[in-house]
Amino acid sequence: MSDMPARCPVTGATPGVTGGRPTLTTTAGAPVADNQNSLSAGPRGPLLLQDWQLIEKLAHQNRERIPERVVHAKGWGAFGTLTVTHDITRYTRAALFGAVGQATPLLARFSTVAGELGAADAERDVRGFALKFYTDEGNWDLVGNNTPVFFIRDPLKFPDFIRTQKRHPRTHLRSATAAWDFWSLSPESLHQVTILMSDRGIPASPRFMNGYGSHTYSFWNDAGERFWVKFHFKTQQGHRTLTNAEAAEVIGQTRESYQEDLHGAIERGEFPRWTMYVQVMPEADADRTPYNPFDLTKVWPHADYPLIEVGVVELDRNPRHYFAEIEQAAFSPSNVVPGIGHSPDKVLQARVFSYADAHRYRLGTHYEALPVNAPKCPVHHHHADGAMRFMDPNDPAVEPDHYYEPSSFGGPVQAPALREPPLRLQGSADRFDHRDGNDDYGQPGALYRLFDEGQRRRLAANIAASMRGVPAFIVDRQLGHFDRADPEYGRRVRGALIEAGVAFTV
Ligand code: NDP
Repeated sequence: MSDMPARCPVTGATPGVTGGRPTLTTTAGAPVADNQNSLSAGPRGPLLLQDWQLIEKLAHQNRERIPERVVHAKGWGAFGTLTVTHDITRYTRAALFGAVGQATPLLARFSTVAGELGAADAERDVRGFALKFYTDEGNWDLVGNNTPVFFIRDPLKFPDFIRTQKRHPRTHLRSATAAWDFWSLSPESLHQVTILMSDRGIPASPRFMNGYGSHTYSFWNDAGERFWVKFHFKTQQGHRTLTNAEAAEVIGQTRESYQEDLHGAIERGEFPRWTMYVQVMPEADADRTPYNPFDLTKVWPHADYPLIEVGVVELDRNPRHYFAEIEQAAFSPSNVVPGIGHSPDKVLQARVFSYADAHRYRLGTHYEALPVNAPKCPVHHHHADGAMRFMDPNDPAVEPDHYYEPSSFGGPVQAPALREPPLRLQGSADRFDHRDGNDDYGQPGALYRLFDEGQRRRLAANIAASMRGVPAFIVDRQLGHFDRADPEYGRRVRGALIEAGVAFTV
């Protein structure tokens, strides 16, 4: 036998190489001899059904899209690291916070909420701020926003709320009436609405906005103590925002302003950074705070729970393939690691279920094994079957005889030392009215009073602009909420409504 590699009978080339370049192949690896001309009966056609090469190309093109995310469809992402600068080990045993100087690789994905995959970047909307930390003890996903609060505090309202942000089923247009109808009927939204309509409602790009875990999570330490925790990421680039007029101009020039800015900055070596902080609340304080600390429409005042510095997030690498690494990125609040836990926050609890469920639908059963989602630490589980089981069966860590647990024949075992302390709960199961005892106006009022003259003016003008076409009875109802947050807030919005020609009666 000759040791020369066999030559391909079709191209005459050595398999895998043609003229010094890799040979084009089918998905089955067969060399492609002609990628320009279909197989036809004569030069004028028709085509032959047996042109498997043409059929494969068209069939793949037909399947190139996966369902876009129902929310947060339009996104921009990059890779980087979290470097710990301060010791927080007294609060958490989480491996990524183990030592000052420790660096953990991460993926960040930023997004708008309502717009579809092709929507313009510079729209007034909340931004997603999702981080996947590839820790030594599994992936920790912090799936937050650029705002510390959200529009609702009960997840039962989430699908209805999102419907009001999306297109009307008949007109297929976004509906200001639906948005303001829902908000005015849900006063718990006022805090988030105030942020959305403020200057920070249109960040100039993800580099110039803060990120927040938004929910209350928990830390637990080696002694089994639990602390409630909120996560904050403050931009080191400073806040930069767009007015409605500036955003319209940007969108007129490019719909991809965020992608251009984030991708361009990283390509130029200008790596964006955020300082990571936590607010920590001792477990027992949760029964004493005047507000429900698990209410997603509330912040914890900094004066009560000051920011504790933790580290620095830096993004230094653009994805090599957008679809593979950003469109297929699957973040889920269910991904916590030992030392980090959840809390009674109702919206968080619904997301713990809902995000992983969405990924199983969008990406498939084994979405966690896709390269961008796969942990960088060893993975040992028995969920091995199902559609697209592409994990390597020859991986020495995978022993085919260990396919259940407990087992007398070796294989992975549970680790009781990593047991999370119990969540202390009280009360009976019921559908409690989420409005009972809740103040929906104090914190939006406090935020309004933080704004300077210019910020207040722009806030009122943005609200008035977004109310064009909304029936007066809905505007009236919402004015009542502004009044209760701060009478001046209500007065200013009325002034702006008159200027914008929006009708109201109160
Ligand atoms: P502080 O005065 O201690 O902090 C004010 C906070 O408001 C800062 O975090 C600041 O962020 C942020 N902020 C400033 N302008 C805006 C804006 N347009 N949109 C959103 N956030 C903004 O206040 P308190 O902690 O006592 O809270 C007062 C109000 O501040 C709250 O009702 C809440 O609306 C808002 N806030 C509070 C946060 C918290 O976790 N306590 C977090 C974010 C907002 P930055 O430092 O980046 O400028």
